[in-house]
Amino acid sequence: MTKPLRPFLLYSDGEGNIFEDETLYAVGRAGWDAFEVPNDQWIELPEGGNLYELPGRRGIGIDVTTGEMRLCEKGWAVAAFIPPAHTGLFIAAYETMEGAPTLPLFCYTAVGWQNDQYYVTAVRIEKDIRQESVGYDENKIETGTAHLLKAYPENRLVKHLMEKCCMTYHCPAARNFSLGRWECPIPTSPACNANCIGCISFQPEEESIVSTQDRLTFKPTPEEIVEFTVPHLMNAPFPIVSFGQGCEGEPLLMWETIAESIKEMRKHTDKGSININTNGSKPDAVQVLCDAGLNSIRVSTNSAQKHIYEAYYRPNNYQFEDIVESLKVMRAHGGWTSINYFVFPGITDSEAEYEALRKLIQETGLNMIQWRNFNIDPDWYMGKIGFHESGEMIGVKQMMELLREEFPDLKFGYFNPPIERIKGDFNSSYAGAAQ
Ligand code: SF4
Repeated sequence: MTKPLRPFLLYSDGEGNIFEDETLYAVGRAGWDAFEVPNDQWIELPEGGNLYELPGRRGIGIDVTTGEMRLCEKGWAVAAFIPPAHTGLFIAAYETMEGAPTLPLFCYTAVGWQNDQYYVTAVRIEKDIRQESVGYDENKIETGTAHLLKAYPENRLVKHLMEKCCMTYHCPAARNFSLGRWECPIPTSPACNANCIGCISFQPEEESIVSTQDRLTFKPTPEEIVEFTVPHLMNAPFPIVSFGQGCEGEPLLMWETIAESIKEMRKHTDKGSININTNGSKPDAVQVLCDAGLNSIRVSTNSAQKHIYEAYYRPNNYQFEDIVESLKVMRAHGGWTSINYFVFPGITDSEAEYEALRKLIQETGLNMIQWRNFNIDPDWYMGKIGFHESGEMIGVKQMMELLREEFPDLKFGYFNPPIERIKGDFNSSYAGAAQ
C-alpha cells in the first residue's frame, strides 16, 4: 500500500541552501489562509521547475506530533516556480515578517519533500510540449538566431526578437521562432491602455519591484511583420504567429498595422493560425482584425468579476464589459476564443469567482481556458486590490472538474492551440502528440 503523500516542509538558510524540516508537514495556502493539501494534489516537481527562498518569510506547517499548525523558525520559507503547462493548486504557506521585501514577478507554489523528491501542489493542464525545458538545444538556438539575423538584416523586429527576447530574456516563444517551429511572437505596441499592478513590461519607478523585460520602443511596419511571419506560417510545424507578447504594451492600440499585416499574410498563405494575445479592451478593433483574417484571440484576465478585474488592470478608457464584448465579437465571427486566466488560489476558486466564470463562459461561448499561474507576490497583490478574505472556497482542482462536467466542449490548456487543433482533433493535434 503506497504511503500517503505528506511531504515535509522546506526552509532555507538564506544563502541558497534548502533543507527539509521533519518536524513539520508542508501545507498550502489559498488567499490569506493555510490548508492541509489533499493527497491527490501533490505531484513531483516537473523538469524545468525551480525553488525560491523567500526572504523575511517563515514557512507554516503541521507539527508531525501535535497535528497543530505552526511556523518554522529554522529559516526562510521556500516556494516552487512550476514550469509552463502546469497549473498551481496552492500558494506556498508562510507568514511575512515586518520589513520583508516585495517578491519579484514569479509564481510561488506550495512545495515539500518526501521520498528524496520535491513535491508541488499542481496539475499538468496542457499536453503540448512547446515550452518543455528539455526541448531547447542552445547550439541550435544560436545557429537559428544567427541565420534569422542574416536573413533579415534590416528588420528591427527580428533584431529585437533575436538579440533581446531570444538571447537575453530566453523567451520560450522567441526561442521556438529561432528553431523554426510552433508559435512565433510578434510584439508591436510600445504603449498600453491599462496599468496592471503586476505588469511584466513596465513598472513605475516608485514601485518596489522591477518588470521582467523592457517594453518595445518602436512601432514595427506591416512590411517588417510580414517579412518573417509568412515563411514561418508556411514552413513551421503546427505554425502559429501571435501578436501580443510580454515585451510590449497592448497590441490592439496598433490595430491598423496588425490588420494590414494579417491581410498581407493571407495573400501569401492560408496555413497556420494568426492569433492575438490582448487585454481585449477594444472590441471595435477586434471586429476589424476578424474581417482581416484573425483566427484566434486570447484575452488576459485575473478575474471574471468586474471589481477584481478593474482593481488590478486599472484600465484607461475601457472597462470589464469591453473585454467580454471582444470575446463575443471573435466568437460571432467563427474564431477561436481563449482566456489567459491568472490562477490565484483563494480568489480564483472562491464561490463568487466560480459563478462569475460560469456566467462569462455561457455569455461568450468561450472555447478555452488557459489556466496560467499568476506571477506575483501574493500578499502584495491582495493588499493592492484590497482583497481581505476569500469567503467560501471550492479548491482549484475541484473547480476545474465542475467546469469540465458542466461545459464538456470547453477546452483546458496553457498555450494557444494551432489551427490543426482548432479545426482537427483537439486531443491529438499538437506539438509532441504521438503521430
Ligand atoms: S495589459 Fe499587459 S502591457 Fe498593459 S499594463 Fe497590463 S500586463 Fe502591462
